[in-house]
Amino acid sequence: MQTVSAHGATIPVLGFGTWNISGELCARSVADAIKIGYRHIDTAAGYGNEDRVGEGIRAGGVPREQLFITTKVGPENLAERDFYASVENSLKQLRVDQVDLLLIHWASKVLPVADTIKPLNEAKRRGWTKHIGVSNFTIRLLTEAWAATKEPIVTNQVEYHPYLTQENLVAFMRGKGMILTAYSPLGRKVILDDPVIAGIAAKHKRTPAQIVLRWDIQQPNVVPIPKSTKPANIRSNFDIFDFTLDAADMGALTALGAKKQRIAGWPPANPEWDP
Ligand code: NAP
Repeated sequence: MQTVSAHGATIPVLGFGTWNISGELCARSVADAIKIGYRHIDTAAGYGNEDRVGEGIRAGGVPREQLFITTKVGPENLAERDFYASVENSLKQLRVDQVDLLLIHWASKVLPVADTIKPLNEAKRRGWTKHIGVSNFTIRLLTEAWAATKEPIVTNQVEYHPYLTQENLVAFMRGKGMILTAYSPLGRKVILDDPVIAGIAAKHKRTPAQIVLRWDIQQPNVVPIPKSTKPANIRSNFDIFDFTLDAADMGALTALGAKKQRIAGWPPANPEWDP
């Protein structure tokens, strides 16, 4: 699988999202994804499914060292003691000794960023994670995080799709050599009927989802993590490595970003987003 690299981390360029799936369906979807070829799985303590994600990982039948596993600490657990308890519990649920990437899921509304970056660094020092990163961080939050951290912040996982291209945040992150992990890369289906996307899909005889995911991976350091519970979609979302979008296709998809439409997000924790 194609990878991207930053600050010593090498990440499979296409991941598998697991938000809002639980139980048997979660375990089965993760196992299906791994059997199809996904090597990068995204979960979070807050998804309440790490045990099932772990089950799916084991059922996938691929050696642990060939997988890239990400989990996250929720905003309510960013004080030092709660932070460590959250990570220890994630490792226990997943039944792994270490994750590949540990993220702060949302910045705290009450604690200074520096106070939460400290336990994130310490989690890496303790060997609980190979790499660290953040999620839903704005330029202001990233600036504070970089000022406070001793370890590189390899990624910021944010909502990113053709309707939300985040130029200012992307420019800042490129300046820091960071990877952008694109969540809700399919815009939770909302964008898949768009006529521009549908037109490019027809031209390439591909699905709209494949066009959007291909657009992601043709950009430097962008890693989409689509989620699906349907084997056919899990498979077709993975079949994006054998065609290329031309410059006109890429430009037309990027131009949709003028819509600046947020589809996901979690209002109680939303920071003041960058324009
Ligand atoms: P998404 O991946 O953009 O969209 C998922 C939806 O698209 C599902 O309803 C799925 O339904 C459908 N779908 C998938 N493939 C399809 C295809 N080929 N054709 C048509 N429909 C398709 O949205 P998401 O789940 O919000 O985001 C992906 C992952 O990002 C999450 O699972 C999670 O891991 C992560 N995330 C992180 C944050 C954060 O705060 N850090 C926030 C949101 C999401 P079916 O199951 O029917 O295929």
